[in-house]
Amino acid sequence: MQLLAVIYIIAAVTFILGLKMLSHPATARKGNLIAAAGMAIAIIGTIFLYEHDGRNLHNYTWMFAAIIIGSAIGTLAAKKVKMTAMPEMVSLFNGMGGACAALISISEFQDIGIEAAPGLHINILPEGGQSRLLIILLGLIIGSVSFAGSIIAWGKLNSRIKDFAFKGQHLLNILLLIAILFVAAYLVFNINDGNFYLFYFVFAASLLYGILFVFPIGGADMPVVISLLNSFTGVAAACGGFLYDNKAMLTGGILVGSAGTLLTVLMCKAMNRSLTNVLIGSFGASAATTGTKKEHGAYKEISLSDAAMVMAYAHKVMIVPGYGLAVAQAQHACHDLEKLLAEKGVDVKYAIHPVAGRMPGHMNVLLAEADVSYDNLLEMEEANEEFSSTDVVLVLGANDVVNPAAKNDPASPIYGMPILEVELAKTCIVNKRSMKPGYAGIENDLFFRPKTSMLFGDAKKVLQDLIGEIKNM
Ligand code: NDP
Repeated sequence: MQLLAVIYIIAAVTFILGLKMLSHPATARKGNLIAAAGMAIAIIGTIFLYEHDGRNLHNYTWMFAAIIIGSAIGTLAAKKVKMTAMPEMVSLFNGMGGACAALISISEFQDIGIEAAPGLHINILPEGGQSRLLIILLGLIIGSVSFAGSIIAWGKLNSRIKDFAFKGQHLLNILLLIAILFVAAYLVFNINDGNFYLFYFVFAASLLYGILFVFPIGGADMPVVISLLNSFTGVAAACGGFLYDNKAMLTGGILVGSAGTLLTVLMCKAMNRSLTNVLIGSFGASAATTGTKKEHGAYKEISLSDAAMVMAYAHKVMIVPGYGLAVAQAQHACHDLEKLLAEKGVDVKYAIHPVAGRMPGHMNVLLAEADVSYDNLLEMEEANEEFSSTDVVLVLGANDVVNPAAKNDPASPIYGMPILEVELAKTCIVNKRSMKPGYAGIENDLFFRPKTSMLFGDAKKVLQDLIGEIKNM
């Protein structure tokens, strides 16, 4: 038992170290491995050293079969997943965590052990049973909401599930939540084998709440929702840690819970919106129909050779990557262009918006994959200070994060979201495939501005052609 306590402490330390290292792209990979190693020793330690009432675990075949199957599925999924589908996978895996927490609660509820009180027509819980039941119910509610909500978020991200909202939905959600909490509280104080069914009511109602909670939230806000549900899963797992008096599970759960909460807050801040606005604002669901309708003039196009010339003879070029860069898998071509321009004496930097792409840090991960130096990545505030001294901005598959409506159109659904102020540069070249809107579904006035030229085509192909043109100069 002593050895197991030491193992749990080591595991907890690796989780904290891993989380710290995840906060920088240069150390993220190692941090992930360290935390995974900590989790592995915690699992192995529990399987072989855990003891309860003098008995050890013994279902080795079942446990190892589950570990092998789970690890194989997880490894394959992580290897095969496209960078653009990463939020979907995170959502699905998070849902599995929530389901595990709910299943732990269901299984522990079977062993709650109520006894008939002599002389009374009620049953009572053994000593400490009430607080145990409270934790079981908390794990059940939070885990079920997280599971059902994550599955809906997964379906919305891959467009299998469409946005669905009706009048009074938020009121219904609040009433359902109150009903769940009320029945759960009633059960804690009045449990007997005649009202066990209420436990399953709480389970079913929590699943329904998870579905209804995520349904009306717009697709563009899914990553914020996933991050929030992730923090729920952490809290649900921490409940399991309490139930089993398992310090590693408790620490892991608390860390996931707090990290998820912090990430949710940071993402809301990056979009300059409150969490309430994200949860009931339906941003992205109705975005296409809101905002001020503006008459735009004509946009102008630039040829590949002109774009190549403008960049090759510039002093300073700023590349603004967006979701389209990830879709086109153009990160390597982008790095090649950067190196070529640098060889010609051009100062090339990247301007990274915190919500560019489809998940936090999406662009950093993508560019790190192509060995772009971290020193060349500027955060939004830094980049905004440098645009006025920039000769050419090359926007690659980004749209919402450079939309000036966020600054000057109070009716726009993205109003208030801080943006990369690319219009301050001398010239702005925007690469995308068409004039279609980005994720928020709104038009972008930047494309019609006098200093902007459109360079249509798939980002990877355009970058390769630009490289060819510059080499031939
Ligand atoms: P957007 O989704 O606004 O725009 C991407 C643009 O890329 C599209 O307009 C598209 O235009 C273009 N594109 C797509 N494929 C290609 C291709 N192969 N080659 C060239 N261009 C392509 O992306 P942004 O990165 O600007 O903004 C991110 C959006 O996602 C924001 O609204 C943000 O709030 C949201 N979001 C981000 C989260 C995050 O954490 N990062 C989380 C949740 C939401 P076209 O079809 O014409 O090519």
